[in-house]
Amino acid sequence: MTFILENATVIGSELALSFSDGLEAYLALPMLRRACPCAACQGEPDAMGRVLRPVVEHGAQAFTLQKFETVGGYAIQLFWGDGHSTGIYSYAYLQKLGELPPA
Ligand SMILES: [Zn+2]
Repeated sequence: MTFILENATVIGSELALSFSDGLEAYLALPMLRRACPCAACQGEPDAMGRVLRPVVEHGAQAFTLQKFETVGGYAIQLFWGDGHSTGIYSYAYLQKLGELPPA
């Protein structure tokens, strides 16, 4: 499946995505923030390949979405209310999370 994003909008506490083939997905914002794929949230492997997961504090604005941008046709970048915006959510990653159907 090729994901071509046609529309994205925040409805309540969910990000609604609609794709060109008619697929619609509703992603809970708190889930998305906790799953933020950036290195600051998920950790980076050290020289031995071990990943130490950092402790991430989420403030009051952490789960509100200010805006989003599509990235290169394969991902969506989310800008959170607390200024965090380094997470690039690829559609493949959202598939891995079970939020989009598998290819
Ligand atoms: Zn992050």
